[in-house]
Formats: sequence, structure tokens, C-alpha cells
Amino acid sequence: MTYDVIIVGAGPAGLFAAKILSKKKLKTLIIDERSIPGGAGALTDGKLIFDNRIGMELDELSIDEEKANSIIHYIENYFLKLGVPPEVSGIDAVRGEKIRKRAAKYGLNFILSKSRHMGTDNAHKIMKKFKEELGLRGVDFLMNTRVEKVNNEKKGFVVSTNHKKKFDSKYLLVCPGRGGSHWWRKQADKLGIKYKHGPIQMGVRVELPVETLKPITDVSYDAKFLFKSLSHNDGVRTFCVCPGGFVTLEPPQNGIPYRGKMLQPVNGHALSKMKSKNTNFAILVTLPLTKPESDPKEYIIRSVINTYENGGGKPIAQRWGDLIRGSRSKKETFDSVARGYDRVKSTMNTEFTPGDISIAYPERFYSAIKEMIIQLDKIIPGVAHPSTILYIPEVKLCDTVYLTLKDTNETSVNNLFVAGDGAGKSRGIVGAGVAGILAAEGIIKKELND
Ligand SMILES: Cc1cc2nc3c(=O)[nH]c(=O)nc-3n(C[C@H](O)[C@H](O)[C@H](O)COP(=O)(O)OP(=O)(O)OC[C@H]3O[C@@H](n4cnc5c(N)ncnc54)[C@H](O)[C@@H]3O)c2cc1C
Repeated sequence: MTYDVIIVGAGPAGLFAAKILSKKKLKTLIIDERSIPGGAGALTDGKLIFDNRIGMELDELSIDEEKANSIIHYIENYFLKLGVPPEVSGIDAVRGEKIRKRAAKYGLNFILSKSRHMGTDNAHKIMKKFKEELGLRGVDFLMNTRVEKVNNEKKGFVVSTNHKKKFDSKYLLVCPGRGGSHWWRKQADKLGIKYKHGPIQMGVRVELPVETLKPITDVSYDAKFLFKSLSHNDGVRTFCVCPGGFVTLEPPQNGIPYRGKMLQPVNGHALSKMKSKNTNFAILVTLPLTKPESDPKEYIIRSVINTYENGGGKPIAQRWGDLIRGSRSKKETFDSVARGYDRVKSTMNTEFTPGDISIAYPERFYSAIKEMIIQLDKIIPGVAHPSTILYIPEVKLCDTVYLTLKDTNETSVNNLFVAGDGAGKSRGIVGAGVAGILAAEGIIKKELND
């Protein structure tokens, strides 16, 4: 069957793109290997961050602040229509400024960002409604279907699926998310699409009592601090704060296949109503590689495998008290009352190995993480309490950035567009939506000029 546009991936990037395309009556098909729409965004915490400094790079999208803000505003309004709770965080400029000034004394840059929270339990319902609305506007969906191959032929793009079916279209928009990014890179190599390597993003998931971070999360739900490591001058940041949340593993699709198993990175989420006694957040170190090893993908894969090997096939957790004494954490003492470790009970939903981060991670990452925690403790006393738990591997697989034309997300191959995390164009739900909308606008512009 012939479509004007085929979109691979029904995550926020693909859904927002389809919404824009459906207004122009372009016949659109979305294919996704999952049974439910919304991609990683549907299975997660669903913090919606409406700030152009977070979850997207304006340079990478080649748009200015004004353009970004108008798209972000559109996305926010639509999410509210779909039923996102009206409570808003990160808009108290006076309290935000106080935190900013205090943080600046210690070399930390605090970003006050407006956000709303769907909650893991609500996110999939909201994304389901999004899909239904698109269906009413004439968008076709093919769920439970994996795109295996993309060919660029005379009549347009031909997409072959695991059900041995083929679909063709004039335009192709690929939004594979982090989980599909390695598959897409293989296709991109075959199609001759130009890309560059992004930086490595690797760090830890931190878990501590809700009360510790409350003075900050009450002002800004997704408390964002940026720092430059003292040891190597690398970018370090807090990311994905989940007050009252749970530590979890990413979906298997986001894992690294190794010896018949999927090695899944650690992540965090929070429900809309049922809260834990803990807050978790990520500390991520950003490091661009230089020759001879400039591909972050291989580096991250090795790091995840190394962590799981060190942990006997499981992720690793270490108490800050053990880390700072220079010893590994052990099962027997992981909840030791004598050491004060009973203050934080792990919320991780799968088994982990109490172990040693300094063995699993290279010094450059280990030092930056340690410095960031010590620095955060100066403005948020208690972050560096011995009971604080650090989990690894926490990695972001947005390691390939596709080169695209100015503000359209069209790649070096004519009529082939990309968007979202898997294309290196975003790092969050709203950012993915922005990238998807830009790609859709690019397609419409080309169609009008055709
Ligand atoms: C545990 C967790 C918590 C998170 N919490 C937040 C948060 O609170 N706030 C936030 O902003 N972000 C959060 N994120 C990140 C957020 O989910 C992503 O940034 C966002 O979903 C990216 O959107 P996307 O459309 O680019 O990709 P995705 O949402 O990953 O969607 C990509 C889709 O493409 C499909 N796909 C891939 N390859 C193929 C193929 N070959 N054939 C068919 N289908 C394919 C996948 O099945 C998937 O549905 C979280 C992520 C995780 C894993």
C-alpha cells in the first residue's frame, strides 16, 4: 500500500509528527514493534519539562528560542487536553533564584524548569488517547510490527516488516528512540546517511530519602544542576528526578544483547499517587570521544557489559558510606543499622549485586560522580549521607547524531527525515515532540513546493 509518509516509531516524536501531518491530509502510516503507543514515554515516569534548555539542543535542531518556545507551548496545551494533571512545578522564580545563588557559590548551575507530571500509571493512558485522536484524523497504525529493512527505490521508500509485508511511501520519518537507535544506524550506513558521533552519557542513579531533596523538588520537580568536574572539566548534570519514585530497569528493548541476555540500564520513575519514601535521580557525565576511538556506542556497550560482569550478571549498587571508605558494598551489610544504612531501603524492583563502582567504571566517570555528590551535599545536606545508594549502569544510548538540513530534520538522503532520541535530536518526551513537529513541518514544506 502506498502512503505519503511512513513513520517508524510511535513514541512522542512519531505521534507529534503525525498530528501535524494529519492537519494537511497527508496519508500517514505509523509502524511500531510494541503493542502500545507512546514509545519509552508511555512506559515511564512522564515528567513533561517545558523548557528549551532541557531535553533538547537548539543548535542541533537549528531553531531559535522563539520557535522552540512556540512548539513547546503547543505541546503543553495538547498534553493538557489529553488529560495531563494541571499541577505545575518550577515556576516560583523567587525561590528558584535563592537556590540558584546558593548553588553558584559551589560551582553548580541550577536551572529552574517548568514541568508537569503524568506518572508512570497515567502516561500509557494519555498516550493511548493520543493514538485514538490520531486514528480519528485518518492516521493508520500498525502496532506489534517491527521494521526490519528500509530501501530507497525509484518509487520512494520501501519498508519491509517482520511479518514479511512491504509498504511504500514518498517520505520516510524514522523516530526509533534509544531502543531502536542501533538498528537504525545499521540501516543508515546502508542508505549512506551522514551522521556524527554524540558524546558518551554515563553515570549513576542515586537514591535517598524524599525529605533530603524536598526543599529543592518542592520548587522544581526535576531539580536540574549542572557542574564541571574538577578532575577533568567534564560536564556533569542531575537528570530525571523522581520524588517518591522507584528505581527500575529500562525496557529490554533499550538493553544491550549479550550472551543470550538483554543487559538493561538502570533508570527511575514515579507513580501519580502511590509514592515511595525515596527520591531517585541520575547523575550523568558527558564525555565526547576523540580519535582513535570516537564512537561512543562501542564504549557504552563495553561499559554496560563490564558492569554486569562485575555484578555477576546483575546491576550493581553501592552505599555512599562504603564508596567513601574505599570498600565494596556487601549483601550482609547492605542494610546495616550500625552503619546507618537502614535510613534508605532500596526500591529497586529487580535483583542487584552490592558491589564496587570504582571497579566497574573508569576513573574519569567515577571521579566526576563523586565530586558532584560532594558538591550537591553542600547545598542539599544529606545527599552524601552514608546510606545514599548509587546504582549502575545508568547510560543514555543517544550516541549517534544525524546531520540534517536547517530546522527540518531532513537527512542527507532526499525525503528521509529523522526525529527524537534515537536520532540524537532530543533527550526527553517534550524534546522528542519538538523534533517530530519540526520533521513534519519540513515534510509539509517540501510537499507544498513540489
Ligand atoms: C525508565 C524511563 C524513564 C523516563 N522518564 C522520563 C521522564 O520522566 N521525562 C522525560 O521527558 N523523558 C523520560 N524518559 C525518556 C523518554 O521516554 C524519551 O526521551 C522519549 O520517549 C523519546 O521519544 P522518541 O519518540 O524519540 O522515542 P521512543 O519513545 O523510544 O519511541 C520509539 C518507538 O520506536 C519503536 N521502534 C524502534 N525501532 C523500531 C523498528 N525497527 N520497528 C518498529 N518500531 C520501532 C519503539 O518500539 C518505540 O515505541 C524516560 C525513559 C525511560 C526509559
